[in-house]
Amino acid sequence: MYGPGDVRVEDVPEPSILAPTDAVIRIVRACICGSDLWPYRGVDTPDWPAAMGHEYVGIVEEVGADVGNVKPGEFVIGSFFASDNTCEICRSGYQSSCVHRQGVTGAQAEYLRVPLADGTLVATPGIPDDDLVPHILAASDVLGTGWFGALAAHAGPGKTVAVVGDGAVGLLGILSAKQLGAERIIAMSRHESRQQLAREYGATDIVEERGDDGVERIKELTDGLGAHSVIEAVGTQESMMQAIRATRAGGHVGYVGVAHGVELPGQELFFSHTHLHGGPAPVRGYLPELIDLIWNRKIDPGKVFDLELSLDEAAEGYRAMDDRRAIKVLLRP
Ligand SMILES: [Zn+2]
Repeated sequence: MYGPGDVRVEDVPEPSILAPTDAVIRIVRACICGSDLWPYRGVDTPDWPAAMGHEYVGIVEEVGADVGNVKPGEFVIGSFFASDNTCEICRSGYQSSCVHRQGVTGAQAEYLRVPLADGTLVATPGIPDDDLVPHILAASDVLGTGWFGALAAHAGPGKTVAVVGDGAVGLLGILSAKQLGAERIIAMSRHESRQQLAREYGATDIVEERGDDGVERIKELTDGLGAHSVIEAVGTQESMMQAIRATRAGGHVGYVGVAHGVELPGQELFFSHTHLHGGPAPVRGYLPELIDLIWNRKIDPGKVFDLELSLDEAAEGYRAMDDRRAIKVLLRP
């Protein structure tokens, strides 16, 4: 990306092993993330040009001398932060805050260098069938992030879960809440195609109103109390306050939308009695369980991909997501 709205597909040198803990993988499928739209819209300003993409599945091409957990020829998946998976923070379940954390970017490409490969990459039980690949790719970020949102919101049996945001993360937050046994799931969405997928994934109710009106509807649906669990999957001031206000006293908000300009009013927070937990999802920790669910065809998170393009058409993919013509775009190198 050369600047806001300016996506180009170019030939660049192939990545190579720089550290003995690196792996180079051949990308089988990549995709465009909702968070890639922050720089595309000029809200984030990285150093231009920026190599884009942090969601990937692929075949290991080459590994550094210290890599032992994955080997050439294996089909692997990783996430947006590389982690050693051995430090105290990783072992406590927060791999996305690993003390040796490194960002992974440039996955919208044919090849990718992945640092800390032993801790970061997880091999699937074999080479997946083609139809399974999008579902596995979804675990790289959006499913792992929705899963964290649902866990952070304490979604589970007997709980009413509300989900703010109907992008891929919000929709997979619904799938996650359902998988974790939530009793009732309220999707906040005003787009018919997204409402339909929300229902397929387990939403029992749809609320179209936003802001204070949306909060009012959630209260009406929950005997005036608010939801036990609210997943916030947008990252704006409005969505965050909608999530906090839709949560009952003692309830939990799992916030996984990358916060942009969010400021929390201390006194309102104080009297809300809500638990807030969120941040960049420790996807690495969930990958083995998520891969198992996908491999055994118990969940189908790849349905969020409603547009598939070749890598050469990446610019069109960004436009389609920016215009909300597509929920999530799959890129085929
Ligand atoms: Zn670590």
